[in-house]
Amino acid sequence: MNLTARILIAMVVGGLIGWGVQTLGYGAGSWIDTYLTHGLIEVGGSIFVNSLKLMVVPLVFVSLVCGASSLSGGNLGRLGGKTLGLYLFTTAVAITIALTLALVIAPGEGMGATTDAPDKTTFVPKEAQSIKETIIDVFPTNPVAAMASGKMLQIIVFALLFGVAITHAGEAGGRIRSFFEDLNEVIMALVTMLIKLAPIGVFCLMWKLFADMSWTEIGKLGMYFMTVVIALFVHISVVMPILLTVLGRVNPLRFFKKMREPMLLAFSTSSSAATLPVTMRTVEERVGVDEEVASFVLPMGVTINMDGTAIMQGVATVFIAQFYVIELTTLDYLTVILTATMASIGAAGVPGVGLITLALVLEQVGLPVEGIALIIGVDRLLDMMRTVVNISGDGTVATIVARSEGKFDDAVFADDNAGLVYEEARQ
Ligand code: ASP
Repeated sequence: MNLTARILIAMVVGGLIGWGVQTLGYGAGSWIDTYLTHGLIEVGGSIFVNSLKLMVVPLVFVSLVCGASSLSGGNLGRLGGKTLGLYLFTTAVAITIALTLALVIAPGEGMGATTDAPDKTTFVPKEAQSIKETIIDVFPTNPVAAMASGKMLQIIVFALLFGVAITHAGEAGGRIRSFFEDLNEVIMALVTMLIKLAPIGVFCLMWKLFADMSWTEIGKLGMYFMTVVIALFVHISVVMPILLTVLGRVNPLRFFKKMREPMLLAFSTSSSAATLPVTMRTVEERVGVDEEVASFVLPMGVTINMDGTAIMQGVATVFIAQFYVIELTTLDYLTVILTATMASIGAAGVPGVGLITLALVLEQVGLPVEGIALIIGVDRLLDMMRTVVNISGDGTVATIVARSEGKFDDAVFADDNAGLVYEEARQ
């Protein structure tokens, strides 16, 4: 059985058990909840997510040093410009789709009359970073601190500088470069080892998630929920395939088929950062994007490119405005597009971060921030879905950039067996 099938079965079985446990009344206080759902199963899930995260910093740093040390300054600038441009563009498209759909479906209309508005004290948003701080924060003062706290953009900047310095350091640089290349192989081998544990990890994560999910809340906010889901679906099934076909010149169906594993992991972990090691491995070894491009574009995408998150923010803004019966002007909508696109730059790819940056968006257009309390109950499941869109967007941009740089390997893309985890599947 291949890895995808194993992960899928584990997901479904885990989710069903979790859902069953909740429906049969084995919630908080029961022995199943104490010893299994929030005992053994939670331990299993957390260990899995931790071990994925464990690889992020070494993987990003080492592979980016390798990538940067084979690029010249000019290439690097061009690559950076293209990547940033495509990321901002796709995010802006995503949020525009979300705003349009939300205005048409009007999920919050009339809700204010029937539902109580949350009072100001029930939801105190965490302070989101301002855009100015975000930009300054890209430049590290201390590389060790940046790595210790997992600041992705800072690690990227340091790795780029270090990689470029290698090319200026003659023979010594050459020796360091081959050391990093060897290290990269070892880390990739570690990623492959850990992916094999994914079915167990996913089983645990899905069990706990579905046992804790507030299904009644989802029913109450059905319209909002569905609007986000439809917008996510339009983005992944219309916008991305068009970009992949026109700019990436690849078959989108094949692309998504190859991306199944990181997509499933993104869904079960709700974290594009934790999924990054698997996304990188897949995009390089299964899709055929050259390491030079993937090691640069993908880690950047984890923090900068959040199409799915922007979609949720667009719908949420309209929903909250309709709930409080506040008219937004065209200028307000443009502000939403701009702020949500910029806010995604500073956000780390971890669960629930989209809600924190949503506060920033709401503030910009003068909507009540406590409105976030209205949608918090359904955010978990939406977070899982939008993370899938987030990482698919990263993979899409990596493919397009690689194609335009002549760094896309069509033979790898055409080969169904390229980069499979299980040896036996290759025969
Ligand atoms: N969980 C999302 C991610 O990691 C971020 C968010 O939307 O909250 O990509």
